[in-house]
Amino acid sequence: MSQSAMQEITCPQCGKKHSFRVWDSINTREYPEMKEKVRNDEAFRYRCPDCGAAAILNYNFLYHQQEDKVLIFVDADGSSYEEMKKILSQKGNAFDGYRKRIVLSYNDFKEKLLILDAGLDDRIVEIIKASIWDNVEERYKDKHIDEIYFATNEDGEHGFLFRKGGHMVASMEFDMALYKAIKEAALDRIDAISKDDLLINRAWAKDITARLG
Ligand SMILES: [Zn+2]
Repeated sequence: MSQSAMQEITCPQCGKKHSFRVWDSINTREYPEMKEKVRNDEAFRYRCPDCGAAAILNYNFLYHQQEDKVLIFVDADGSSYEEMKKILSQKGNAFDGYRKRIVLSYNDFKEKLLILDAGLDDRIVEIIKASIWDNVEERYKDKHIDEIYFATNEDGEHGFLFRKGGHMVASMEFDMALYKAIKEAALDRIDAISKDDLLINRAWAKDITARLG
């Protein structure tokens, strides 16, 4: 079920108040157009009719891509993690067999969508990314990279973007051979020890890599 409500937003630039549609949950089977709108930011972009100021509004919501059995809760303000963890961990309901995730930022949500759209397993991607992070921190500390994100370019090629202060400073190609090798060697064991994990990020990848030995 999708739920949205109009909310009053005060323009950060001119201070005038306008109403804006805010989603609690988005079901892409019910609202197929939302699938594109969350990807191109239209669903979250506020534009002030008075002064033209634009901003992306970050708020908590549940993304339900029902046709692909995917549930992602975006805990943008960090207020609902424990509560959603409890809800998403429940079994014996319509969401059995789903890929369920909690992300802690809007950027992490966008990355999950790109990985999903690429047909990749985000756990393997995070494991690869964690090793890239280790390498960056070991050898390129002077570059002050603060974000690494999976991305797909206009030609459909996958890679990782390295950002510093919100700006891209480098990129690297996605090593599909490495992805396949890790998937082949470790996916069964990853499933066995962490099938129900919801927060798949660098800390998770570090932990799972240590446990896999
Ligand atoms: Zn304004």
